[in-house]
Amino acid sequence: MPSAVSVSAPHVALRGVHKVYAASAVPALQDVAMDVARGEVFGVIGRSGAGKSTLLRLFNRLEVPSSGQVLLDGQDIAQLKAPQLRALRRRVGMIFQNFNLVSVKTVWHNVAMPLRLAGVPAAERDQRVREVLSLVGLEHKHHAYPAQLSGGQKQRVGIARALVNNPEILLCDEATSALDPETTQSILELLREINHRLGLTIILITHEMDVIHSICDRVLVLDHGCVAEQGPVWQVFGAPQHEVTRQMLRHDSNSLPDDIRTRLRSTPTADAPALLSLRFDGRQAREPDLHDVARSLGGASHMLQARVERIQGRSVGEWLLSVALSPSALQAAVHALQHTGASATVLGYLDKRQDLAQAGGH
Ligand code: ADP
Repeated sequence: MPSAVSVSAPHVALRGVHKVYAASAVPALQDVAMDVARGEVFGVIGRSGAGKSTLLRLFNRLEVPSSGQVLLDGQDIAQLKAPQLRALRRRVGMIFQNFNLVSVKTVWHNVAMPLRLAGVPAAERDQRVREVLSLVGLEHKHHAYPAQLSGGQKQRVGIARALVNNPEILLCDEATSALDPETTQSILELLREINHRLGLTIILITHEMDVIHSICDRVLVLDHGCVAEQGPVWQVFGAPQHEVTRQMLRHDSNSLPDDIRTRLRSTPTADAPALLSLRFDGRQAREPDLHDVARSLGGASHMLQARVERIQGRSVGEWLLSVALSPSALQAAVHALQHTGASATVLGYLDKRQDLAQAGGH
C-alpha cells in the first residue's frame, strides 16, 4: 500500500546537524542531512547509542542542535519564540516506547489532557476526544485506567493523545519495541492507516528491521551519529552499501550456514562445486525467470539456501547455489546470468571431502 507521500518541497529537513552533549566528548550527531516529504513514513534505524533519539527529539525542539538547522516547511525552528514554539508542539505529536500515560487518569482524561492544557472549550474537547478514540478503536475503553489495558491498547491511547491536537507530523520513538509481534503488527497497521487517512507525515526511530520493512517509504541508517546511508527501503535493504546496514540485515558472509562456511575454499579443487550467490536487489523490472537461470547455469546445480522478501512490491534477497561446472563454463554462466537481472558472485568452492565424509557417516 503506497503512503500518502507528496513530491513537493520537504515537509521537514535537517541540514548539517551536529549535536554534542555537554557531558560527552563524543558527538551524538555529526553532519546529519535528511529530507522528509509531506505524507511520507520515514524510518531511522541504528544500534543503541547511534543517535536516533537525539535526532527524533530535534523535530519538536526537545533537543536543539549544536550547529546546523532543523527546518519545518523551510523555516528554521531554532528561530521560534515561545508562542510559536507552543504552536510547533501542537503541529508535532509524539508517541513513546513506554506510552507515557498518566496512571491515575482514565483513558478519556489522558487523551483530553493536551486540549485541556491548551484551553480548548469542553464541548469541542469532548468531541475531539471521541473522534480520536474512535480512530484508534478504543471508544469502549474511555473509562478505563492504563493499568486495565494491554500494551497494544496503551499504545493506542498514546496515539490518540498524540493526534488530539490534529498534528501534521507524528514522531514515533521505538513505539512498538515493548509490544509482542502480533500487537506490533496491529499498531503498525494503525499508523499506516493514520498516514493514509490524515495525510500525516510520520518519522519513526527503531532498532527493528521489521518495523522499517512493514511501513516505511524511506530509511536512514545512523551509525555513531553519522548517516551511513539513506534511500527507499527496497534499495537500502536490497543492496546495502554500508557495513553497518549489512550487519543489521545479516547480509555479511557470516550469515552463511555453518556447514557451508566450513567447507568453503577460495581456490577450486578437483570436482569441487562453486558456491554461487544470486542477489536480487529489487532494481529489476521483473522477478528472475527460473528457466533463464537454469539455462544460464547449464549444468548440475543445487539450491542450498534461498531468502527472498517482498519489499514495496519488489523482490529482494539472495539464493545460494552449488554449481558443478568447469572454471571456463562457470565464467560463462556468471556472464549469462547478468541477463536474468540477478547479480551473480562466486563466493568460493565447496570442499567435497567433508561432504563425502559426512555422507559416509550415515
Ligand atoms: P539511540 O537513541 O540511538 O540509542 P541516543 O540519541 O539516545 O541514541 O544517544 C546518542 C549518544 O548521545 C549516546 O552516546 C548517548 O550516550 C549520548 N546521549 C544521549 N542523551 C544524552 C544526554 N542527555 N547527555 C549526554 N549524553 C547523551
